[in-house]
Amino acid sequence: MAKDPVPELLSRATEALEAEFEALPRFETESMPGARELSGVLEETARRLVDNYPYFHPLYAGQMLKPPHPVARAAYALAMKINPNNHALDGGRASSAMEMEAVREIAAMFGWKEFLGHLTSSGTLANLEALWMAGQQKPGKRIVGSEQAHYTHQRISGVLKLAYTSVAADRCGRMDLNALEEELRKGDVGAVVATLGTTAIGAVDPLDGILKLKERYGFRVHVDAAYGGYFRLIADELQETTGRAFEAVGEADSIVIDPHKHGLQPYGCGCVLFRDPAEGRFYKHDSPATYFTSSDLHLGQISLECSRAGAGAVALWATQRLLPLVPNGEFARGLAKCRAAALELDRRLRAEARFAPLAAGKPELDIVVWTLALRAADSGMKSEQAQSVFDACAARGLHLALVQLPAKWFRTGDRAEDARTMTCLRSVLMKPEHEAWMDEIWKRLSAACGEVLTA
Ligand SMILES: *Cc1c(COP(=O)(O)O)cnc(C)c1O
Repeated sequence: MAKDPVPELLSRATEALEAEFEALPRFETESMPGARELSGVLEETARRLVDNYPYFHPLYAGQMLKPPHPVARAAYALAMKINPNNHALDGGRASSAMEMEAVREIAAMFGWKEFLGHLTSSGTLANLEALWMAGQQKPGKRIVGSEQAHYTHQRISGVLKLAYTSVAADRCGRMDLNALEEELRKGDVGAVVATLGTTAIGAVDPLDGILKLKERYGFRVHVDAAYGGYFRLIADELQETTGRAFEAVGEADSIVIDPHKHGLQPYGCGCVLFRDPAEGRFYKHDSPATYFTSSDLHLGQISLECSRAGAGAVALWATQRLLPLVPNGEFARGLAKCRAAALELDRRLRAEARFAPLAAGKPELDIVVWTLALRAADSGMKSEQAQSVFDACAARGLHLALVQLPAKWFRTGDRAEDARTMTCLRSVLMKPEHEAWMDEIWKRLSAACGEVLTA
C-alpha cells in the first residue's frame, strides 16, 4: 500500500492548533498513559482491526462501504483535540459555524438558499426528523413509500406512531405511480417518501411524476437521497428519466442525504434539509441545562438530537473545501467514474449469455445487480448459484454483495417463478478506482463463475 499521508499532515496541523492555545498556563494531563503502554494497546487494536473486508481496495466491490477521504480523516482527528459538541455554541463555536457553512453548500447543490438544515448522526436519524416533521404538519395522516424504500421508513413511522403504507415498485425498482395514485385517492396520505437511489439497486423514483400528483392531492414530499443525493451534480449525464428526477429535488419539502455514504465522510454523518425555514418552530424546547450563553442560533434548537459530533462537521467542511460540490469539479468527476464503472460492468454482463442482468435496463447510478442465466434453473437454484459465485469470488479476493430481489425483474417467463424473490449478486461500485480496475474485477468474476457453472 502507498504510504498514508495523514499521520504526518495531522501532526503538523496539531502543532498549529496547539500553538493557538500556547498562552494558557502549562498543566500535566493526569490521564496520560506511558508511551510503551499506549503503543502496546494500539498495536493490539490494529491486529484486531484486520478482521475486516478491505473496504478501501478496488477489489472490495460489495456493499455501500468505503473509507473517508484522507482530508476528512485528518480533520476529524484534529478536531478530536478539542472534541466539540455541536448541540450548542457553548460546546462548539467554530464547529457549529463550520456545520452551517457545510450544510449550506449541500443545500445549494439542490438550489436552496433559504432553508432549515443540519447534520445528524445517520441517514436513519435524518429520515426520522423528516417524517417527524411530516407528522407535525399532517397529523393523523399516512406516510407512503415504495416497497423498495429503505426498510427504516416503516420502523421510523412505527416509532412516531404514524401509519405507513408501501406501494409497488415497477421492474426498474422505481415507485409505481399508478399504485401511488390508488393510495392518494383514499384521501389520507400526509407524505410520500421518494427514494432517489434505492439502497438495493440504486433505482430513482419518478420524483417529477410524484410532484405532479402533489399538485392534485396536496401531500408533503420527502426525498430520501441518503445514498443517491450527490448524483445531483451529474444529473445531466444520467439517463433522461433519472436526470429529471434529480433536477426536481429542489421542489421537495424535505431532503435527506448521507455524507457518510457518497460524501467521503466517516460514519456518523447524515444530513436533513427542510425547504421552509419556518418549520424550525416545531423543534422548540426548553431544556434547563442547555447553556445558551448567546442569542445566536444554536444547532440544538433545530435538531432532535442533543449532543452531536462537532468533529463530523469539521471533517465535512474540510472535505468540501478541498472538493467543492460543483458540477464538473473533482468530486463530481469521481461520481461520474463510479457510474462509468457500473455501466461497464453491466455492459460486460449483458454481452454474455451466462449472466442475466436487470431486464428493464442499465443501472441508474453505480449499483449493478445480476443473476446467472441458466435455462432450467428455478429461483431457488439461481439463489444457490449466486451464493456460490459470491463465495468463489471472495476466495479470489473479489468481494461482492448479495441482495434479495423479485425474480420477475430478471425475466423468468414463468408466472409461478415471477412471484418469488431470489438471491442476486450485487456490486456497489462507489470508489472512482473501480473504473480502472474493471478488467481485474471481470477476470476474477469470470473465473469464479466458470468454477461454479462447471461444478
Ligand atoms: C443508507 C440509507 C438509509 C439509512 O441511512 P443510515 O445512514 O445507514 O442510517 C436510508 N435511506 C436510504 C435510501 C439509504 O441508502
